Amino acid sequence: MPTQSNDQAGEGLLRVLADNVPAMIAYYEPKNLRCVFANRVYAESNGCSVDSIVGKTVREVVGEEAWRLIEPQVERVLKGEKVEYIRPMTLPGGEQRYIEVNLIPHLDSEAQMLGAFVLITDITRHQLAERAIRESEERMRKFAAATSEGIFFHKDRVLTDVNEALLAIMGYKREEMIGHDTLEFVPPEWHQTMTDYIRAQREDPYEAEALHKSGHKIAVELVGKTMHMKGETLRMGALRDITARRHAEARIQYLAHHDMLTGLPNRAYLTERLASILALARRHGTLVAIMFIDLDNFKTVNDSLGHHVGDALLKQVATRIREVLREADMVSRLGGDEFLVILADFSAPDDAANVASKLLQVIATPVEFEGRQVCANASIGISVFPRDGDNADDLIRHADAAMYSAKEHGRGHSRFYAPGLSDTAAETQARESRLREALRRGEFVLFYQPQLRVSDLRLVGIEALVRWRHPDRGLTDPSEFIEFAETRGLIDEIGQYVLREACRQNKAWQDAGLAALPISVNVSAVQFRRGDLVAEVKRALDDTGLESRYLELELTEGILMDQDTVGSALAGLRALGVKITIDDFGTGYSSLSYLKRYPIDKLKIDRSFIDDLGTDEDERAIAIAIINLAKTLKLTALAEGVERQEQLDFLRAHGCDEFQGYLAGNPVPAEVFTAFSRG
Ligand code: C2E
Ligand code: MG
Ligand code: MG
Repeated sequence: MPTQSNDQAGEGLLRVLADNVPAMIAYYEPKNLRCVFANRVYAESNGCSVDSIVGKTVREVVGEEAWRLIEPQVERVLKGEKVEYIRPMTLPGGEQRYIEVNLIPHLDSEAQMLGAFVLITDITRHQLAERAIRESEERMRKFAAATSEGIFFHKDRVLTDVNEALLAIMGYKREEMIGHDTLEFVPPEWHQTMTDYIRAQREDPYEAEALHKSGHKIAVELVGKTMHMKGETLRMGALRDITARRHAEARIQYLAHHDMLTGLPNRAYLTERLASILALARRHGTLVAIMFIDLDNFKTVNDSLGHHVGDALLKQVATRIREVLREADMVSRLGGDEFLVILADFSAPDDAANVASKLLQVIATPVEFEGRQVCANASIGISVFPRDGDNADDLIRHADAAMYSAKEHGRGHSRFYAPGLSDTAAETQARESRLREALRRGEFVLFYQPQLRVSDLRLVGIEALVRWRHPDRGLTDPSEFIEFAETRGLIDEIGQYVLREACRQNKAWQDAGLAALPISVNVSAVQFRRGDLVAEVKRALDDTGLESRYLELELTEGILMDQDTVGSALAGLRALGVKITIDDFGTGYSSLSYLKRYPIDKLKIDRSFIDDLGTDEDERAIAIAIINLAKTLKLTALAEGVERQEQLDFLRAHGCDEFQGYLAGNPVPAEVFTAFSRG
């Protein structure tokens, strides 16, 4: 039985082999398709043992469901065809696998079918991996379609794929790009950069330009990625249109360097430029002048005529300054009503002074806005490199100090820096901001002083006098801040407050049933010259409801000298029905002609002539002269600062109409005054 034993040995070996390969193996006879042999995995995967499976039909082995799937394949193999297919398979435990099935016909030498080999490989893992790739490709495609970034693939610069976004950015159709060299879509000046990036396989983002189909350049941000696929090296690029960002950046850059209102360079830009201008001047040994220009009374224009007029005025001033300057010069707006000019092209300080006076002149030319004449006067401080400083900061600071000094010595002037000005500038600034704060906080109050008729001591008028109720220093007299406020352009606001408050209070007294009397309000020359006093007074009257005949304005003689403005302003006030008093009469540049020329109602004899009425011969003579002058011109004469009875007696003897002073009453707060006038 060697054959038998050989057969057994062969079968044993076959079994060992079959059970140890990682595939499923079976053999079926062709007639009834019954299993003749199966290895362990095959049998067990079909829920059988290697013994029990023998004799079963394929249909029984795989089950009805699978049979429906494989029946056509089985027919093919029975016809002698080699069949290969993939199908899902459910293991007895319920686990789902993918298998690759090979059905191999076993033919004899006459091509007679002896049986069919079944060889099955579990390809589940492979299948899943493939599906993952398919899904990721799908995701990638969707992603590429969804993003607004242009995405392209190229091999050695030849485009192989592009997404819709890229076509939209570039303005091309797909077929116009695919197969073309990427460099065709890039301006020549960027070719080198791009090839460098590709050659070095760089993957960091960079900014470049692309060429739109219409020929214009598009600012883009690019990032390339190198990919190794199927043994090939591909490059993928993502491109973003950054035109909008570039515009925004340019805008921000511009904003950072310019004043929006006037379009002039701002302080930051100017300081930057000044540094290089100075460096140049240092090298060439030339002069540079820094001019600090500050508008006088700008705030009043802004507040009384509105911000739009203020803005328009600033623009106008900016234009005018620029017109005076030369190419090499520079002007910038520092903010508010401050401008800074750099003169880089002049040979002697006198030239700078000339430019300054030209600037003052053009700035002061009235501008018409909405039918109104608006005036901007300026004060200018000048510092000169290298004399007044060798760096931008010092020069600007010194020009600033010179400007303050110019303001203090009467507005509308220019001044050169001189050593020692700087310290006071800082002090002045602190004082100014303190005063502005006081305005904001409402720390100004009015005191009221009675004016009596000399003949019968009846109350005939009230003077409103401003006080600063300083939180630390207490009640502060106007001598401490009025003049300062005038030089710093603050008097307009203070004056406006006083005017309104006096009108309001007077109306309130009348409404409360007190005798109707005129109230006198002191008006600063600065306020008067500004030109819109008439409108302001009218508004105060309208707003408070006070009749104009109950308002008097006290002006100083100096105002009358200012021929240009005074006539129309006084006529305007007179037309309103407001009375005009000349305050501190006798101390100014008295010119009798103007007393006749202008509509004036009252002369207030300055306190200095009243002081020593009893003893000083000259003062007596002056007082008498003023009283007589008033009589001749049919004006009321009022004596200020009457403290003693003998002074009053003297005034009565010489026919003075009215008087005011401690003898009649001190300036007091409104509530005290109410009690006084009732009593
Ligand atoms: P003024 O208009 O000549 O006011 C009279 C000043 O003399 C007041 O000083 C008043 O308190 C003081 N006075 C009154 N009676 C007597 C007296 O019998 N003897 C003495 N020695 N002095 C007397 P005040 O209030 O300090 O004002 C000083 C100046 O400040 C005022 O002189 C006026 O020119 C200015 N002023 C006051 N209030 C205002 C205001 O609201 N606006 C403006 N622009 N200036 C004002
Ligand atoms: Mg007065
Ligand atoms: Mg006075």
